[in-house]
Formats: sequence, C-alpha cells, structure tokens
Amino acid sequence: MTEFFVSKFGGSSLATSKQYKKVKEIVNKNENIKVVVPSAPGKRDEKDHKITDLLYMCHQLSSHGLKFDDIFKMIAERFFEIRDNLSIDVDLEKILDEIKTNIENNRSIDYCASRGEHLNGILLAKYLGFEFIDAAEVIFFNEMNEVDEKKTIEELQNKIKLGDKKRYVVPGFYGSFKSEIKTFSRGGSDITGSVIANAIDAKIYENWTDVSGFLVADPKIVENPKEIEHITYKELRELSYMGAKVLHEEAIFPVKNKGIPIHIKNTNRPYDKGTLIVPDTWNFSKENLITGIAGKKGFTVITVEKTLMNSDKSFLRKLVSVFETNDISIEHMPSGIDSISIIVSDIDLNGKLSKIIEEIRIYLNPDNIISSSNMALVAVVGRGMIRTKGISAKVFTALSDAGVNIRMISQGSSELNIIIGLENSDFETAIRAIYKSFYN
Ligand code: ASP
Repeated sequence: MTEFFVSKFGGSSLATSKQYKKVKEIVNKNENIKVVVPSAPGKRDEKDHKITDLLYMCHQLSSHGLKFDDIFKMIAERFFEIRDNLSIDVDLEKILDEIKTNIENNRSIDYCASRGEHLNGILLAKYLGFEFIDAAEVIFFNEMNEVDEKKTIEELQNKIKLGDKKRYVVPGFYGSFKSEIKTFSRGGSDITGSVIANAIDAKIYENWTDVSGFLVADPKIVENPKEIEHITYKELRELSYMGAKVLHEEAIFPVKNKGIPIHIKNTNRPYDKGTLIVPDTWNFSKENLITGIAGKKGFTVITVEKTLMNSDKSFLRKLVSVFETNDISIEHMPSGIDSISIIVSDIDLNGKLSKIIEEIRIYLNPDNIISSSNMALVAVVGRGMIRTKGISAKVFTALSDAGVNIRMISQGSSELNIIIGLENSDFETAIRAIYKSFYN
C-alpha cells in the first residue's frame, strides 16, 4: 500500500520563480507526495514584503475609502514574475481584476488576506500539473472559529482520490464558514497541511521552510547551535511556548492523535536532515540529555507573603481569581510555606499591576507583596532529563559559573523541562552558559 506524504511549502519557499523550480524538483523526486499545500509568496530578502501583509494593507486602505492601486500593483508584479518566468498558462489578469473589484467592494478582511495562498495555489497547481482544490471547498470552520473536523475530513476524503495517481494542490491558511472565506491566524498554512495529513492518514507531513529544522538554541544568541534531529510533540510545545518559532503552535494538534510525524525540511538545502517531530511514544535510541533551550524576556513576578498561608484553604483560589477576573494568564506559580510567587507576562499585565496588587491586598490581607519586573524566563527542555540525575546540577552550576543570579526555579511535573527566572539583562549569558555546558 502506498504511504502518502502531505508537503507544505512556506512563503519563502515559493517567493520567486527560482524558488518554484526548487519546489518542483523536490515534489518530482517523491511520487508519494499526494498533496502540496502552498503559503502565499513570502519575503525575497529582509527588506521585502510578504504578499499577505500587502493584502492586509489593501483591505485597510480600501475600508477607509482610500486607493490601494500601488500596493495591488506590487502584489500583481510578484505573481507575474512567477507566471512569466515559468511560462505558466494562467489568465492572472482576469483573476487579479476580480480580486481587486472584490476588495473595492469591501469583501471581508479574511477574504482579502487569503488571496495570496489562493493565487499561489492556482499557479503552483498548473506549474506542477496537479489538480487544484480550493481550500474553501474542503476546510470548514464552525461557529467557534475552529476547524469543523467531521465535515472537513469527509470532504477532503471525497475530493482527494487515494486510489489513483492524481496529485493535488490545496492552498493553505484559509477555509470557509457558511460560504464566506475564513482564515486561520497568521502562519496558518502549517495547520492546513496538518489537517490534510490527518484526513488522508499521511505517513509523513513534510513542512518545507527556509531553515534546516529546529536548533538547540537561538542562533542570534548562540553561535552555530546544533540542529535538533528528533523532537517530541510535547517538547516542541514547551519550546514553541517559550519562543522557538518555526512551525505554527497549533499545527501539531491535527496529526497528534494518529501520531503522524512532521518533518521540517529546508527547501534551499533539501539534503539536510531537518527535524522530525514525533509522538511522545516514539522509540528513541539514546540521544541528547537536553533537546533545546528557549526563553523570553518581559515578565513580572508578584510575590505574596503571608504567615500560615497554607492553613487558609481558600487562599490559592482567591489569589488566582484576581488574575482570572483581570484577564491575565499565569505563567508559573512557584511557592514556599509562607509565600507564593505569580509570574505573568508584561504584555498580559499591560498596566494593570497596581490594580492587581490592590485587589490582592483587599481579598487576601497578606503580610507583604513585592513585585519585580524586568524578568526573563529560560526553559531547558528535554525528554532525556526524565529520571536522569544531575541535569539540574549541571544547569545551575553553569549559571553560577557565568555569574547569573537565579530568581526562580520551576520544574514541570512531567520532568520534561526546567524553567529558570532571571534578570532580563542575564538572559543571553544564561542561554549561552547552559548551551555550552551540554554541547561543548
Ligand atoms: N500567508 C499567511 C501569513 O503570512 C499564512 C502562512 O504563511 O502560513 O501569515
């Protein structure tokens, strides 16, 4: 039985006619690729614009009654470059005219944003000789803005014929709700690929981008960090939550139940191994003790002290409810006998600190409340840490040798991560020190 692949190509992989050629080569080499999911053309270099950003701008201008001809022309030229250099037989002028009229007639923001993937899908399908399936006809949302799984799977299975040699292009990023176009959040083509991989029971969901997978640490901080060869879904969740960005955070959920691996690959270096994201139950040979280090700046710690805090059974509930009613997520909550610290992100806190402190005073009558901002969190993540002795000793020795003062420590109950709170100014030093102690 053939084992199918679903292959999603990101914006930079399809930014120019030159990139299109690389994609064709990759797809032609693997006959098992049944469905190709394109993003809209992305940036050609640092200073360039993503087509999706330009489309959002067109909508913005048009909704204020302003002209958007110049920006639309920039979009059109990008697609013409691809079509003309590759001699793709598509009447782009006609489709672009229609889109422009629709934007002028105030079609929804999601409709406008989705046209980059739509156009790229039409061009790519023609170029590869694959069948084009409009995502609006196979990806369905529900009232809660989530994918209507049942309807989507049914329709995908109807349209994608696994029994013959046909191959398909389904644009990423959008679907429909009650016949109006609806998009995922930014970067959502990753989710489209995952939804399709699940629907057709793919062997592998390939995600082609412009890096050779995940790195152990951010290359802007650590020089030449090692690539991660295997990472589990859970480890990836931990690392992406803490800032490691390659794949959309929600892209693992559709493939998770069936345990379909996601293979991150580099369109510009297709022979690099890439990173394989695998189920937590994957049978690993012994690899590294830690899989990755990630982190973020911009947190505040609010420490509440109260003698005999533990004897008041409603203490924790009342404390947490202050954050809940102020719509603030709690990141971590390490505690002592007579004190507890709440760590929240500054973005969430957004000027509400004094209000929060006042409410804690009123509801909990604490002995003391101390708040300190400018904190960073660093997460050391790895399945290799589970039931392995000495990992935290290694992390903390590295930090102490580097002169970093640790303000908070928290280990997840799954033993998959150690989270360390430190001053913003120590952030980079800490990551370098931890990396060095495990990898040099
Ligand atoms: N083109 C969309 C964006 O820029 C979606 C995607 O690339 O996945 O966010």
